[in-house]
Amino acid sequence: MTQHFLISPAARTLSVRQVARMTDEEAFDIFRTIRFAANGGEPFCPHCGCPKIYQLNETPIRWKCADYRDCGKKFSVTSGTLFHSRKLPIRDYLAVIALFVNGVKGVAALHLSRDMNIHFKSAFVLLHKLREAMGAEVHGVDQLGGPDEPVEIDGTYIGGDVRAPNQEADKQQDWWKARKGKTEKNTVSIVVARERTGRAIPWAVPSERDAVEIIRAHVAPGTTIHADQGQHWNSLRRTHPMMRVNHQIEKRADNGANINQAESYYARLKRAEFGIYHRIAGHKNSKTQAYADEMAWRENRRRQANGTHWTAITTLALTLPKSIRWAGYWHPRVAV
Ligand SMILES: [Zn+2]
Repeated sequence: MTQHFLISPAARTLSVRQVARMTDEEAFDIFRTIRFAANGGEPFCPHCGCPKIYQLNETPIRWKCADYRDCGKKFSVTSGTLFHSRKLPIRDYLAVIALFVNGVKGVAALHLSRDMNIHFKSAFVLLHKLREAMGAEVHGVDQLGGPDEPVEIDGTYIGGDVRAPNQEADKQQDWWKARKGKTEKNTVSIVVARERTGRAIPWAVPSERDAVEIIRAHVAPGTTIHADQGQHWNSLRRTHPMMRVNHQIEKRADNGANINQAESYYARLKRAEFGIYHRIAGHKNSKTQAYADEMAWRENRRRQANGTHWTAITTLALTLPKSIRWAGYWHPRVAV
C-alpha cells in the first residue's frame, strides 16, 4: 500500500523547533527578504517606492525614505502589511505560522495562547489575520473550471442547533421538527464550488439559494457543474451544462455525476467546527466566512509540505495591506 502523503518525510520540511532556534537576525532576514522581494530583498520605501533610504539608529530596525521633498516617511519591515504595528518578536510570528499550518483542522486561539504564552486576545486576532491572508488567496481566483475541469457545488448549514430536551419523553414531534428545520435562526449556509482536481471557493450566505448567482459568476462558461437534486440549483442550467446526483439513491451516479470532492471539503470544515472551534456560525456571516476560507485553503494545499505552507502564509501576510477589520481590533474605536 502506498504511504499516505502526510506520513512521508516530504510532508515535513519545517518544524517549530527549527523556528524556535532561529536568531533574531535570521528571523528578521526572512521577513526582509519576503517583504522587499520586489527589490531583491533590499528595503525600499513602501510609501513612494523610492529605493533611496537609510537605516535609523533604532531597535527594532526602521528606515527612513530619503526623498525628503515628497515623502521622507519612516517605515519598518512590517509597515503597511498584515502585521502592521506588530507587538511580538518576528520569530514569534514565524512560530505562530508554523503552529497554525500544522493544525490541519485548524488551531484554537486558546491553544495558541498557551503554546506561545500570549494573551488569548492577541492569539485570536493574529489567527484571524492569518485567515484573512488565506481568504485573499482562496478568493483571488476569478473563475473556476473550464471545458475539461468539471466543478462540483454543494451547500451545508452551520449552527442553529437545537438543544435536546433532558427527558426522552419530552422529545416530541416539535423538537424533531425544530431540529430538522434548523435553517431558520442563527444558521449560516456555506456553499462551496470545487474543481474536481483543483481549487475550492466557499461562500457564507443566508441560504443556498443566495449562492446561485455567485456560482454562475464564478464558474467559467462551458464548465459542467455537478450538483445534488436541490431545486434551487435548477436555474444554473440556463448558463451551464449540469450533471445531477440523487443522494437518496447513490453517492455517484452511473454517468459519473457526483459531488464527493465538495463533500470532502465539508468533512474538514465540520471536523474543525466540532473538534476545534466549536462555534463558527452566528457572527453575521463574516467570521463564518473566515473559517470557511481557512478550510478551503488547507484543502486546496493538502498535498503540499508544511514548509511550503509556512512560506505561503508568511508571503501573503507580508504582501497584503494592513487589515481594516483586525488591526487594533481590541482597542476602542475613535468616532470620526
Ligand atoms: Zn518614500
